[in-house]
Amino acid sequence: MFRFAVHVYGCQMNVYDADRLRTSLLEMGWEETTEETAEMVIFITCSIRAKAEQKVWSEIGRLEHRHRSRGAPLVAVVGCMGQRLGDAFISRFPNVRLVAGPRSLGRVPEGLQQVACGGKAMLLLDDPNALDDLDCAPLRRENHWKAFLTIAHGCDNFCTYCIVPYVRGRFRSRAPEEIFREVRELAADGVREISLIGQNVNSYGADFDNGYSFASLLRDVAGLKLVDRIRFYTSHPRDFTRDIVEAMVENPEICPAINLPIQSGSDRILKAMRRGYSLEEYASLVEMIRKILPESAVTSDLIVGFPGETEEDFEASLAALKRFKFDLLHSAAYSPREKTAASVMGDQVPDHEKKRRLNEVNRVQTLISAEINAALVGKTFEILIDSTAPKGGGLLQGRTATDKVVIVEGPESLLGQLVQVRIDRAGKWFLRGRLIPRENVNGGRFTDDGPAEA
Ligand code: SAM
Ligand code: SF4
Repeated sequence: MFRFAVHVYGCQMNVYDADRLRTSLLEMGWEETTEETAEMVIFITCSIRAKAEQKVWSEIGRLEHRHRSRGAPLVAVVGCMGQRLGDAFISRFPNVRLVAGPRSLGRVPEGLQQVACGGKAMLLLDDPNALDDLDCAPLRRENHWKAFLTIAHGCDNFCTYCIVPYVRGRFRSRAPEEIFREVRELAADGVREISLIGQNVNSYGADFDNGYSFASLLRDVAGLKLVDRIRFYTSHPRDFTRDIVEAMVENPEICPAINLPIQSGSDRILKAMRRGYSLEEYASLVEMIRKILPESAVTSDLIVGFPGETEEDFEASLAALKRFKFDLLHSAAYSPREKTAASVMGDQVPDHEKKRRLNEVNRVQTLISAEINAALVGKTFEILIDSTAPKGGGLLQGRTATDKVVIVEGPESLLGQLVQVRIDRAGKWFLRGRLIPRENVNGGRFTDDGPAEA
């Protein structure tokens, strides 16, 4: 029996992979513990920006130091950095005993067992067209009531700035039956909210020849009637269809929250990024979504400082933020990634200028998000209580269907429950609410003083 600890970096797909790996190792008889007492520390890594990678290098360096003085722990590097840098980890750090790419996750538990028993260092690099996935649902999760579920692997879009197609390989949809089976297992394990995830979930089915699409999958998952909430991200504007929004309208368990990355407000930059849509095409999608699903929250991603981005292009991105008024924005300074087309483009924007643009984007978006949140004061929402609030003090935390964080006072027995709250106060990033009485979905009643019936 070996003791392990997992450190997760990057996107939700990594959280999903970490939870499945954890599930699989526990089934093999391994025991999860803290890094301090672990014999094997597993890093699930991200390569999307240089910063995400630097953090992992320094953490492994720190553990190598400990390894030299105390002999433990050993280290495994799994995921995008493993695929991108492979042998570099093993040759640099003697404590790194296993390196694996994201499509080789299925071979990792067995590989860990071998290296933990003294086997020689192992390199499990992916064939970009193959997939050796881990065949288990994430039954040991960070969160008991919410789970991620990857519905498609890889990406074939090759946006000029992005490393994902190089490290996660070719696009491949998972079979619907596999997804339904996992939904059943998760629901039986107490999960109330499932997030269907992938680099571009709305391309789901593009590699099938039977016309089964992402909208079909949404309808079928909702039709199982096994969970209270279904979310999905990320959607690529190029393949985003009206049918998806119609499936959301037909099935109230599909949360009205759509992440639709814009990346830039300038047509010239969108073209250089090879995004496959213009600003006005993007605008008509947002208009369609808000017309059919007026209560929806639209969030987005934006990159500043892409090579050749002029002040005018940047102003166009700021104007887009003011025009579309996203509920939330994931903003990032462009980070050159090896092998990508943009990394060798001329006219790279200096770091200090990227930083200035990022600060300006964040300033503008903060005002927009605060304004949207302020308009919610006095309104009533259903939230799924999913954790105690990080600040403690008897406070609980939940999310609205539109994915807004709400803090409420209440007993811990409400964890995992859908409750009704009225919003009293709005901050930039969260709302403060108060429980209000009503029939909750479990048939129990509760009042402002807590549940009257459990
Ligand atoms: N597939 C989604 C799409 O096409 O919009 C995005 C998935 S990507 C893994 C997540 C986000 O990382 C992107 O939306 C983009 O904003 C950001 N990103 C990707 N490559 C980047 C880079 N080289 N520098 C900065 N941000 C980057
Ligand atoms: Fe990367 Fe998304 Fe473009 Fe694929 S579609 S290359 S994941 S940004």
